[in-house]
Amino acid sequence: MTKRDFIKEVLVTHEEIVAFCKTLASNLESTFDEKDEIVLLCVLKGSLPFMAELLKHFTRSDIVCEFLRASSYEGQSTESKGIVDISCNTLDVIEGRNIVILEDILDTGRTLQAVRDYLAAKGAKTIKIATLVDKPERRVVNIKADYIGFTIPDHFVVGFGLDFDEKYRNLQDIIIPYPEKL
Ligand code: 5GP
Ligand code: MG
Repeated sequence: MTKRDFIKEVLVTHEEIVAFCKTLASNLESTFDEKDEIVLLCVLKGSLPFMAELLKHFTRSDIVCEFLRASSYEGQSTESKGIVDISCNTLDVIEGRNIVILEDILDTGRTLQAVRDYLAAKGAKTIKIATLVDKPERRVVNIKADYIGFTIPDHFVVGFGLDFDEKYRNLQDIIIPYPEKL
């Protein structure tokens, strides 16, 4: 039998995620002109299922997929600053492109702020942010997503890309776990 006893509460169902991706694809298609390129930038690893689902719902067939990895470290200083390191970037040319950053969850906001500033510094034409989940209570920097799937209270969640110790990314729903059962 599938082990599901670690699930305290299903916060977002797979059906709700699919519905959001469908709406998002249609919003992006109406935001950008047909002649304009759309580059989806998946922030690894958590946004992979989000990108894969979103890709299914475009009517145009020229969506570009790129990937980067952003890892945050708590700074050594007393004030925990969270330094974000951007690596494994597949996007060679940033200048002049319409980039839609796909993030699994917007928490303190440091990761997205770093990714956005990095793209802006390299001359992206437009930068949009789409996050599957938003935890606004936790924000420490001034950043807002253009597209938000689900706004949730301050809970640690896993599933649909969101991990605990690299696991549970393949759960189809987003859930609140019993931490002791993970
Ligand atoms: P931020 O830079 O906004 O603080 O953090 C974003 C990253 O922290 C996310 O991309 C994710 O990797 C991790 N994170 C934040 N909140 C959660 C959560 O509730 N569950 C999981 N699994 N990861 C989280
Ligand atoms: Mg992430």
